[in-house]
Amino acid sequence: MSNADDTGMDQAPGSGQPFPEAEPTARRTPFRSAKIHERHVERLAIVYVRQSSPQQVLEHRESRERQYALADYAAGLGWPHERVLLIDEDQGHSGKSAADRAGFHRLLAEVTMDHVGLVLGLEMSRLARSNKDWHHLLEVCAVFGTLLADQDGVYDPRDSNDRLLLGLKGTMSEFELVTMRNRLERGKLNKAERGELFLAVPAGYVKLPGGEVVQDPDEQVRAVLALVFDKFDELGSIYAVFHYLIRNGIRLGGRVRGGPQRGQVEWRRPSLPTLWQLLRHPIYAGAYAFGRRPLDPKRRGPGCKAAKRWLPLEEWKVLKRDVLPAYINWERYLANLRRLGQNRLGPESVGTARRGTALLSGLIVCGTCGLRLQTSYRHVGNAFYGCTRHLTRGTEQTCYGVKASVVDDVVGAQVLRALEPAALELSLQATQDIQKERERLAQHWQQQLQRAQYEVERTRRQYDAVEPENRLVARTLEQRWEESLRQQQQLQEDHDRFVREQPPALTAAERARVLSLAADLPALWQAPGTTPADRKEVVRCLVERVVVQVRPDSNHVGVTIHWHGGLTTEHQVVRPVRRYEQMDDFAALMSRLEELRAAGHSAAAIAEKLNEEGFSPPKRCGPFFAELVRQLLSRRGLANEKTYADQLTPQEWWLADLGRALGVTVSKLRDWMLRGWLHGRQTPAQGLWIAWADRDELKRLRKLKARSTRGVVSYPEGLTTPKKRPQK
Ligand SMILES: [Zn+2]
Repeated sequence: MSNADDTGMDQAPGSGQPFPEAEPTARRTPFRSAKIHERHVERLAIVYVRQSSPQQVLEHRESRERQYALADYAAGLGWPHERVLLIDEDQGHSGKSAADRAGFHRLLAEVTMDHVGLVLGLEMSRLARSNKDWHHLLEVCAVFGTLLADQDGVYDPRDSNDRLLLGLKGTMSEFELVTMRNRLERGKLNKAERGELFLAVPAGYVKLPGGEVVQDPDEQVRAVLALVFDKFDELGSIYAVFHYLIRNGIRLGGRVRGGPQRGQVEWRRPSLPTLWQLLRHPIYAGAYAFGRRPLDPKRRGPGCKAAKRWLPLEEWKVLKRDVLPAYINWERYLANLRRLGQNRLGPESVGTARRGTALLSGLIVCGTCGLRLQTSYRHVGNAFYGCTRHLTRGTEQTCYGVKASVVDDVVGAQVLRALEPAALELSLQATQDIQKERERLAQHWQQQLQRAQYEVERTRRQYDAVEPENRLVARTLEQRWEESLRQQQQLQEDHDRFVREQPPALTAAERARVLSLAADLPALWQAPGTTPADRKEVVRCLVERVVVQVRPDSNHVGVTIHWHGGLTTEHQVVRPVRRYEQMDDFAALMSRLEELRAAGHSAAAIAEKLNEEGFSPPKRCGPFFAELVRQLLSRRGLANEKTYADQLTPQEWWLADLGRALGVTVSKLRDWMLRGWLHGRQTPAQGLWIAWADRDELKRLRKLKARSTRGVVSYPEGLTTPKKRPQK
């Protein structure tokens, strides 16, 4: 073993000459480096082979061959062939991180189990491109005394000079990787900035061999795209457009991107994500964009490769307008983006018009805090707009909600009033729209029929062209021809059905019906066929938002309608409240109540009077009635009628007092009164019993009491007949 080299740097066999690349199988005289000891050779030598991307694995065979030749190199250093272990499980994994590289982990595991004397790699630092992984490996190798070797030499990580060199190599390697990536990225960005970088063009466009991007030459593909944009304008949500397309059997045309059918038109069933991307893609507005969805390192994790994030328009790297043929203009594109944003569910957005009955969900805003009110349905038909600020922020409740119907009624009426003058115009527009819609569908059918016809012609021509003797081919072509004929027939039948259901032109009766319906807006608004979603759409066309000011101490709600175009109107509505104190006219109600009671009216009479005068109890539980008046008086402490001395005329008794005087229970006295054995009456408000008894009566009642014991059923008539009460 040579001991000449003390610098820590060690040279590969044949100093200055790299290990044999050109003739990997060539045997060299065994040469031991000064750093290789017996204890190293007793353990394994591991050759770690790595190629970063699958592309490299395929194309850079040379480099791979060189990596495998390292096994021979290990043998040259003194390891027997059977003690050289090859780890090549990471073929096709990038060296950027060891997160999903099983081979690298196996390498580490073998080293930590003290099985390894030497680790070989083509260029040492390529074992791991991330400095973190690289230093981890160095650390582990230093602990277990494992050597590292590459084509330039053998290194001992326990030696400070070697360690320095290995560290530098790792740093250089990482820097090299970063530089390379930056150079690639910059090239890509330059091309993008010129508006020429197209990885793939979306449906509706084709990329010519020269790199130019043009609209799809297929008329039907373009027509369907235009239809999608128009329908989104009309229906306002992706979901509605999706269902419209499915209902009418309309498919989206796109070009096949790979395989034998590459470049041909393929008709695909629309899906919600496709439509979403279609409406958000700026190419349809003629703009070139790059960097709409960059990688987001924060979201990268094990098992999450597509860690990309959509950026808002302002943050795109490149945006060049009016450089490509467009389907819609830029304003319409921005409007679509806005609409998509509004359709999102949440306190900051309006949301789509849904099926619930609450007319203003999404539009109604809390006047106190400015947040959107949340619609909840307590039970069917009983919607409530509530402010959830205190719940979501954990603060004290300062905002209050309101029953939906209270606000809906006034806004609905206002909207109808606003529409009234335009009713005729609207009805004409409606007939035109229906007409246009039908023409459009009819055109779509025509295009489909033409396509089927073309397919039949094509398969027939192919069949004609083949020699009849070539039976195998002729049979296949014949089947294709028959198949296309069958499809054409099917399509024709579907078309006939469609035409029967929806004739291309509106009939006179249909037109008249549309006109008459549109003329009577209130009836149309209430019609059973008008869904809550329809009403909401109408409101959303006119109203931007509705602000309600609900005060906890008042049953009056301030409603401000903000119409599109900036006009605002103010309205007042009365909401049902829980307590009398929340009612604004509570004071007036109570003073009137007191007046009426003082006038000696019965509870029923007071209720009637109050109803006549336009008072109503809270909660909207209908008009006042006797029991309610009694409750109100007693709860307010105004109806404690015993406190009023003028309640009792001479010889009148509260039942309890009379009971004490006679030594009889109150219930027995009430029983006597109901039997007519005792004169009595009830107070008007609370219905308290008052008995009348003068001295004679008291005498009679005492006798009656003496006779009245358990089991007695009959009394002398004189005892049970009360004295005639003197008239006042
Ligand atoms: Zn609020």
